[in-house]
Amino acid sequence: MKIAKNINELAQFMTQNKEVNIGFVPTMGALHPGHLSLVKAASSQTDYVVVSLFVNPLQFNNPIDLEKYPRNIEGDIALLENSGCNLLFAPSVDDIYPQGVPNIELDIKDLESVMEGKMRKGHFQGVVQVLHRLFSLINPQKAFFGLKDYQQCLVVKRLVDTYFSDIQLFFEPTMREASGLAMSSRNQRLSLEGKKEAAEIYRKLIYCRSLYPAESPLNIIEKGKAEFKKQGLEVEYLEIVEAETLRNPIIWEKNKKYIILAAVYIESVRLIDNLFLN
Ligand code: AMP
Repeated sequence: MKIAKNINELAQFMTQNKEVNIGFVPTMGALHPGHLSLVKAASSQTDYVVVSLFVNPLQFNNPIDLEKYPRNIEGDIALLENSGCNLLFAPSVDDIYPQGVPNIELDIKDLESVMEGKMRKGHFQGVVQVLHRLFSLINPQKAFFGLKDYQQCLVVKRLVDTYFSDIQLFFEPTMREASGLAMSSRNQRLSLEGKKEAAEIYRKLIYCRSLYPAESPLNIIEKGKAEFKKQGLEVEYLEIVEAETLRNPIIWEKNKKYIILAAVYIESVRLIDNLFLN
């Protein structure tokens, strides 16, 4: 595996691989098997896999969250060796934003006015800025993202439809611990007890799914919230939405796909998860 620590090094490797089919996996590091599943998917579908590792300050609305975000580049390099990754791109903030904060315009009001976007002001615009830059630098044919960040998948799709229509997107299933806990870099900040509590998130989502479609969307959410409360867990949001539009349904409609999404605080760590209902 090669490592490019700046744009010049990246450019060298990319010119050597001009003719090949490039797969791209953007990450913020502190890698876990969830990230590696994306790398594996990329290496099975393309000839040259580029993984980026960049903790993007623009997508953190909370400076403490940015400061506490786990970083472990040596560990990440060790995990990526033999994972199917050909090139690790680990740039600095100056490499990615040489002219300060960019302003790529993308209308995502509908996607960022709810759930993650509503709770983390500016988060998705930050995601848009960094991905526009990374896609432009790497020029992949295929790019791989996790369904764990479901709302992000929709934002990426809009970015690609608008600016990079040649890129083919792949959204991969969420990798979980044996307990059901969705793997996340943020789990590193949890105690053993916290991890046990956090596994309840998935259980509650499964409970909610078991009520579909017998109960109404509103009832499912009320019952789900009551379950979280019983367990003493602090729910920031628990919502059922139409998977395509992120609109809350009042009644179930045939031929529509629904997803339930949650953000929950455990030991002051904000965790998200989701599950398709159908
Ligand atoms: P992050 O480093 O958190 O920005 O995540 C980088 C990519 O990995 C994103 O596309 C995430 O959706 C994806 N990802 C994060 N956690 C998981 C997981 N548990 N399973 C599959 N993909 C994941």
